Amino acid sequence: MHSIFPTISRFSVLSHSDHHHLHGGRYNRQTLSLRVPPPLPPHLRNIKTLPLRRNFTISAIDAAQPKINGSIAKSNTLKIAIVGFGNFGQFLAKTLVRQGHTILAHSRTNYSAVAAELGVSFYFNADDLCEEHPDVILLCTSVLSAEKVLRSLPLQRLKRSTLFVDVLSVKEFAKDLFLQIIPSDFDILCTHPMFGPESGKDSWKGLTFVYEKVRIGHDESRVLRCEKFLDAFAKEGCIMKEMTCAEHDQHAAESQFITHTVGRILEKLDLDSTPINTNGYEKLLDLVENTSSDSFDLYYGLFMYNKNAMEQLDRLTVAFEMLKKELAGHLHEVLRKQLFRAREQNFGVLQEPRALLKLPPNGNGHALPSRSDSAIS
Ligand code: NAP
Repeated sequence: MHSIFPTISRFSVLSHSDHHHLHGGRYNRQTLSLRVPPPLPPHLRNIKTLPLRRNFTISAIDAAQPKINGSIAKSNTLKIAIVGFGNFGQFLAKTLVRQGHTILAHSRTNYSAVAAELGVSFYFNADDLCEEHPDVILLCTSVLSAEKVLRSLPLQRLKRSTLFVDVLSVKEFAKDLFLQIIPSDFDILCTHPMFGPESGKDSWKGLTFVYEKVRIGHDESRVLRCEKFLDAFAKEGCIMKEMTCAEHDQHAAESQFITHTVGRILEKLDLDSTPINTNGYEKLLDLVENTSSDSFDLYYGLFMYNKNAMEQLDRLTVAFEMLKKELAGHLHEVLRKQLFRAREQNFGVLQEPRALLKLPPNGNGHALPSRSDSAIS
């Protein structure tokens, strides 16, 4: 009984009596019981039927198909439940509400007031949220809390085909988590908008949206629902990139994790704007602002839950050391040349390498020490 349920909207697996219930708008799973069928009503008598075991028949009710498809296509909006209504959840809600979607939200913190301002219905209780039967559960919690939050949801209260979407910045972890926890009846779409409340505050145009359709049922309504969700980003002008979660994590470690790390290093320098900022420096200041407005949990999640992050951190450390060595090596070369030139000019007699004193200050802003206070020879 359970296994044939998902096929109902495509092929209509019906007993004779079910035709009656469907026609009367009272179709439900209980009508698939093994009963002796009453005679078909006259308007259904010409329908081609295929005999099934016992008294089941599969009816080719093609005439009903356009009606079903039509109802899916009619509404372009979805009922979306955002779970985790913090910084990013609220940011997404603004655009989704503007697009006409019905947005519900649930979070650890009570965001009723913020939600009301945004036109979102807030449910402090997860049971109440799930009983609203949203089309989509959009997981927007921190990477670190995702498993705990997902496990705490009363999934049994949801429609059995609900689409689960996440926006976690690490994708292999999110995909594995969904596949482990979400029952196989539910659909799964893993996504990562490569922008946030700072970079996407004015528009999402030209910003990248990564996704992998991990498990979407073949039923037309499920395919359409997934497309509708993706369309919310496509129609804002996002660049839609379909790739596997593994590919995403490799690219993200090389780009996003490096960006956040550099931003956080620069933040520690406490950089100030100067009266002579170059464009490059302005961009660095922007980077610091962008990354520092994200929570540390987010950054830590990028590190902990992306297996490629450690390698990038090591490469960054090695690159910094290499650069320092390159600078020191260059300086050493200049000094050596000057030293030997002075010796040659003086026929092998070691002289004070006068040019040394004209060298630019070193990294500490101090002039190099004169020969008397150093061991240069
Ligand atoms: P975040 O610090 O990564 O996550 C904050 C959210 O996680 C809040 O909704 C918070 O709920 C919830 N949360 C944290 N710890 C929790 C716990 N122990 N139990 C239950 N809920 C907990 O910041 P964010 O910027 O809002 O990001 C949310 C998600 O979006 C993350 O997975 C992040 O990777 C992803 N994302 C963020 C950006 C961005 O630019 N910010 C961009 C793309 C994707 P309460 O507020 O109720 O405490």
